[in-house]
Order: sequence, then C-alpha cells, then structure tokens
Amino acid sequence: MVRTYSLKTEGAKALAKNFLVREFACRDGSDTVLVDDALVVLLQKLRDHFGRPVNINSGYRTPAHNAAVGGVPGSQHLLGTAADIAISEVAPLEVARYAEYLMPDQGGVGLYGGFVHVDVRPGRGRWDSRSGKEVTVSGFPGYVRPWNEEQLRALIRDELSRQKEAV
Ligand SMILES: [Zn+2]
Repeated sequence: MVRTYSLKTEGAKALAKNFLVREFACRDGSDTVLVDDALVVLLQKLRDHFGRPVNINSGYRTPAHNAAVGGVPGSQHLLGTAADIAISEVAPLEVARYAEYLMPDQGGVGLYGGFVHVDVRPGRGRWDSRSGKEVTVSGFPGYVRPWNEEQLRALIRDELSRQKEAV
C-alpha cells in the first residue's frame, strides 16, 4: 500500500529498522513523500542480506522532478514504488541478483553502472542499462541461496550412512 508522508513533519520517522521517511523524499525538496510499504520491506531485506547500508539515490519523484532528471513518463518513482539504490562494496549485479531471487515473478529490476533500480510494480520488468542504452533482459539469475543448517545436517547424515555401508 502506498502511503503519503510529510517530509517536514515526518522526515525522521522510521519506516523500518534502517529506513527513514526522508531517505525516500524527492530531491527537489517537495514536502509530499509517497512510499509503498512493499518497497520498504524489499529494501530492508536487501539491507539485512548484505549487512550494509542501502543508499537511496532516488526514491519518490514529483512529476516535475522526474522530467528534470530525464525519468521516463509513468515512471514507478512517481508512484512511490521505486528506488535507485547502491550498497557500498557490493556490485550492482549482486544486488540485482538478490532482488531477482526475492521477487522472481513481479516487480522491476534495472541494472545500471553504479546502482540498481528496484520497484514493486504488480507486473514484471527487467532491463540492463549498463551500456548507457536500456536493453530488456529476461532477468538476473545467478543468486545462489546459501546452505541452511537443515540441509547441511541432512547432507552430512547421508554421507555418514553411505560411509557406514561401505565399511
Ligand atoms: Zn529508478
């Protein structure tokens, strides 16, 4: 759900453990800030996974600011559903891969040279703009989920029982 906040009175309000309203504010200083709850959840998941601050280069944009920065008309940034993010010491491709893993069938993921655009649109969109030209891609596969304890225990158990049979 998209919510409307005031930068002036709610700028310091925490939307999640590591995100404040002001981080999503339009860079033109507008008071109105639109933020989708699902976007906050997605960004907090990225924050927790990589264990590093997620810097929002651009969150909500007013139509005037979107036009000024060359955003596409109808940009998800106008709806409060998008963020251009960079995580220090994490390659944008790795961020895109994890976002792909988190929302394989929906949302938007756009890969750029120094940042990743993520949005929580109901549909699905994927593009690679690292060359400076936007190229539609099928997705960003490659994220490998780490082993969890249960899987490791099962693997060791199977291996031990195989060794026992071999003796
Ligand atoms: Zn964007």
